Amino acid sequence: MVSARGFEPPRPFGHRILSPARLPFRHADNRAKDSYDGKGRVRSRYDHGAVKNALLVVDIQNDFVEGGALPVKGGMQVAAMVSRHLRHFKQEYNFVVATRDYHEDPAGHFSDQPDFVNTWPPHCVIGTQGASLCPPIFNLVREKLISTVVDKGRHSPAYSGFEGLDPRGHPLLDVLREARVDHMDICGLATDYCVRATALDARKHDFQVRVLVNLTAAVNPETGLQALEEMKAAGCSVQAATAP
Ligand SMILES: [Zn+2]
Repeated sequence: MVSARGFEPPRPFGHRILSPARLPFRHADNRAKDSYDGKGRVRSRYDHGAVKNALLVVDIQNDFVEGGALPVKGGMQVAAMVSRHLRHFKQEYNFVVATRDYHEDPAGHFSDQPDFVNTWPPHCVIGTQGASLCPPIFNLVREKLISTVVDKGRHSPAYSGFEGLDPRGHPLLDVLREARVDHMDICGLATDYCVRATALDARKHDFQVRVLVNLTAAVNPETGLQALEEMKAAGCSVQAATAP
């Protein structure tokens, strides 16, 4: 289009939707609490600098996509779309972390007759190809677009990324606080299990959360929809990402 200032390329619609400036940062349900700095001063998160935005990529591993031990329908497509999303919107994120389900002996988590609610076929066993991040996500780590990987579930079942530890052994919560993260976008697998548990924990820890709904896929469509309602009720915003 031609404006008074000359030619201006149209801004992609998705850029506007996903710009942190347009996120409901001061929404009543999402209001950050003042914190104390340890020296008797009250510090509001909003008084100092810009909001720090993170992307959490949950459990996009070979075993959770088509061809894996516990495939989630649409998982492969989610992997490709998350890669596309991050490459397009990398400027929007101050910090990007991927979680892995990473099992050695997760008591009671595996079963030969799984119910697909509490017990599952063996999956994401440390040292197997199935535990590796899917190639599109692994490439993001290799290219340092994903800066941190946290692993969970070594000796017990763990659905929430907040049960994960980084390579130094630091819990995800500490890692996010160290990066001074206020807001996070969450995507990955599966909507009704690990995405749900991670988003609910993030709200418990008072982060502002947006679930990028089309960058997730559910084990079961019905419980996937229930999980979205539950996340909304907990104060998460649920939106579709719109990378072209
Ligand atoms: Zn598991």
